[in-house]
Amino acid sequence: MSFDYVRELPSPEHLKELLPVKKTTAEMREARVDLIKKVISGDYERLLLIIGPCSADNEEAVVDYISRLARVQEKVADKILIVPRVYTNKPRTTGAGYKGMMHQPDPSKQPNAFEGIKAIRHMHIRVMEETGLVAADEMLYPDNFAFLDDVLGYVAVGARSVENQQHRLTCSAVDIPVGMKNGTGGDVEIMFNAIKAAQTSHDFIFRGWEVSSNGNPYAHAVLRGGVNDKGMTIPNYHFEDLQWIGQQYEALGVKNPAMIIDTNHSNSGKKYEQQPRIASEVMHSMNYDPLVKKLVKGFMIESYIEPGAQKIEDHRIYGKSITDPCLGWRDTEAMIYEMAEKL
Ligand code: PEP
Ligand code: MN
Repeated sequence: MSFDYVRELPSPEHLKELLPVKKTTAEMREARVDLIKKVISGDYERLLLIIGPCSADNEEAVVDYISRLARVQEKVADKILIVPRVYTNKPRTTGAGYKGMMHQPDPSKQPNAFEGIKAIRHMHIRVMEETGLVAADEMLYPDNFAFLDDVLGYVAVGARSVENQQHRLTCSAVDIPVGMKNGTGGDVEIMFNAIKAAQTSHDFIFRGWEVSSNGNPYAHAVLRGGVNDKGMTIPNYHFEDLQWIGQQYEALGVKNPAMIIDTNHSNSGKKYEQQPRIASEVMHSMNYDPLVKKLVKGFMIESYIEPGAQKIEDHRIYGKSITDPCLGWRDTEAMIYEMAEKL
């Protein structure tokens, strides 16, 4: 094959020896994962907020941002369960652009996946130890889940990956909640098929092994809107969308039906400042249909310290997204308190 073998990566076992999770941190994580599962199953009545930057590009800024979230979490603990987004792999529509800390621990330097794998595990552990929160990440490369399976609280399969068999089969072995997004074209059938596949047991191949899985009963839906064949952004968070998708979902007969509404991407058309309005509309809709209320368990929100986004080539501003534009901290904090008041 005509690629260069640049560096051999450590095995997940070796990486875990290099960067172990303390016993107390592991226990804290387990308790947190249990709560996230209970929100998905309806046994813990909290609004799930999966919130944070589009990409976790800088450990200092990410830990700073999540420390702020942790202080807010304490104040709204009776209403809201916060899971910070620490997204270390970025899918790219055309392949061009920043692919996340896993590829490039420093976005202005050359790719180095060997250092990247260490950097992302280090960052996830530091988030748990310093903030007491357990993060969500995206499963972009299923094999790499083995590097992070003991440090995450939630994993999402993105709109570009959700139709992929290896993602679906790997998710059937994952023992934390998995959010399956609808496809980039807005197709919810792809998402439903992914949920069904992930909830089922499978025999397959993973990291050079023949393996078998038990199925993940916490695989659920994430609605992110879509772009149609004319290039128009079509959101799927409005009342009628939630009702219709909710009815299809109920008819599937899968375990723990749950919908998370992604307020950015093709729901906001990346008009990031619209996210509080979108969340507010969904919360309003929840009061008008018991099925919508039952199924909507929370939101995925793109937020960072500074509002908007910047180019990597710019003289970079601390805490400002280098991928999708994010809500800034001030508006984020106000939005979370407003949400808590409505509950
Ligand atoms: C994201 O969550 O940043 C993302 C890339 O989402 P999607 O897969 O919905 O485009
Ligand atoms: Mn994004």
